[in-house]
Amino acid sequence: MSKLVQGYEVVIGFETHAQLSTKSKIFSRASVAFGAEPNTQACAVDMALPGTLPVMNIGAVERAIEFGLAINAHIAERSIFARKNYFYPDLPKGYQISQFEIPVVQGGEVSFFLEEGQETVRKTVRLERAHLEEDAGKSLHEDFIGQSGIDLNRAGTPLLEIVTQPDMRSSDEAVAYAKELHKIVTWIGICDGNMQEGSFRCDANVSVRKPGGELGTRREIKNLNSFKFMQQAIDYEVRWQIDQIEDGHAIQQATVLFDPDTGETRAMRTKEDAADYRYFPDPDLPPLVIGRDWVERVRSEMAELPRVMAERFVKDYALPEYDATQLTQSKAVAAYFEAAAKACGQPKLASNWIMGEVSRRLNASEMAIEQAPVSPAQLAALIGRISDNTISNNAARQVFDHLWQPKLAELVIGDTLEEVTAGVLALNALKQIDAIIEAKGLKQMNDTGELEKIIDDVLAANPKNVEEFKAGNTKALNGLVGPIMKASKGKANPGQVNALLMKKLG
Ligand code: ADP
Ligand code: MG
Repeated sequence: MSKLVQGYEVVIGFETHAQLSTKSKIFSRASVAFGAEPNTQACAVDMALPGTLPVMNIGAVERAIEFGLAINAHIAERSIFARKNYFYPDLPKGYQISQFEIPVVQGGEVSFFLEEGQETVRKTVRLERAHLEEDAGKSLHEDFIGQSGIDLNRAGTPLLEIVTQPDMRSSDEAVAYAKELHKIVTWIGICDGNMQEGSFRCDANVSVRKPGGELGTRREIKNLNSFKFMQQAIDYEVRWQIDQIEDGHAIQQATVLFDPDTGETRAMRTKEDAADYRYFPDPDLPPLVIGRDWVERVRSEMAELPRVMAERFVKDYALPEYDATQLTQSKAVAAYFEAAAKACGQPKLASNWIMGEVSRRLNASEMAIEQAPVSPAQLAALIGRISDNTISNNAARQVFDHLWQPKLAELVIGDTLEEVTAGVLALNALKQIDAIIEAKGLKQMNDTGELEKIIDDVLAANPKNVEEFKAGNTKALNGLVGPIMKASKGKANPGQVNALLMKKLG
């Protein structure tokens, strides 16, 4: 069941332009490096000088294949480049080379977890296609009065346009999809994912309908370049469309822009149809032919995919699927987890700490896990001291807090993941943890004699609670455990306290 907004169901489909991480352009040898002086990276092909011809960049094709494999899609053995004709000053050819009827990547899906109320639900968004195309140039308005400048550096930059089916049902789901897609393209390294520089830009197609009804008319919000704006833009658009319909107006299909300053979407133009572009196969480019052997070679050279790694974590470390997915949010988090899990031999505890304490602190300080002041070896040593009953969970959190101070972390020299895995520095980490436990006096009291004396004293001082407990009021036990923990300065092992109390009270 998707959640309704004022009785309406929200329907969203995404088109994402991922800039491919090649060095040169999709049909020329000009560089795609970001930030160069205008028109210094546009060669004759990019400027559409007469007589020039496009030549396919094999690196761009290879990245499209990698993407197709990553999302379990069909890689077309034969796909076609088409001319999408339109006039714009930053498009000197008068057409964009794209793929239309037969795209290189067909189908596939993207799955992710979503919090819905108290539950964590797995969602799957089906992909329609992903096709190769070139980017256009850029019009510059700011530095000119009464004129516009044209910068063709971006013309011919390779893009993969990734199109979903209209499968998303809320802005939360849309943002979760976009984040997952972002993770996939950066993980496999086909796109640097830099949203500010425009390397990963999303268009959200949004419509609303009464549950079970026909699909509503959509409006397309263009070029969303941050996850925060994405959420705001969709939420605003949904409310706007519902208001229109409730006021008796029909929704006109349109392309709209989100203005972060006002938080509103604004119509830019009414939507054109495919027919307006007069698509036809580009006679300058032969069909793109991809043999099975090429696909298999790319497959064999690809690093382990996040979802494959997550499956391995479930199998090898007996983790719940949710944990495995969270821990494979990035390669660095996964490596941190594996190092800690191997060093302490308790994967589920390592997972709990990483998804809990570690993530919380990283988020609070906007830090990447590579900068975490607590190394995987230290975390592993800490977990070891909880499971051998040296310290309680509570005390462990205090040790962790202490370790997180950046100054202390500097003392750990050469503590790389490889060394930790090799066990070289495991001993050092353990010594550090023990030193902190000692210095803070956090060791649990595991000496029964000492503890028994405390318990006897507390029982003698609280006869009323003892009586009530014996009369069947189990809550009276709390009145005893509290003072015992206090008398032990928090060092008593709660499990042991419970066991001894039960023995003494019969
Ligand atoms: P175009 O290429 O003209 O933009 P497509 O039919 O390829 O149109 O659709 C583009 C995107 O719009 C796809 O992601 C698709 O899932 C989505 N979409 C199509 N119809 C709707 C709708 N009624 N509501 C929301 N999204 C839609
Ligand atoms: Mg479109």
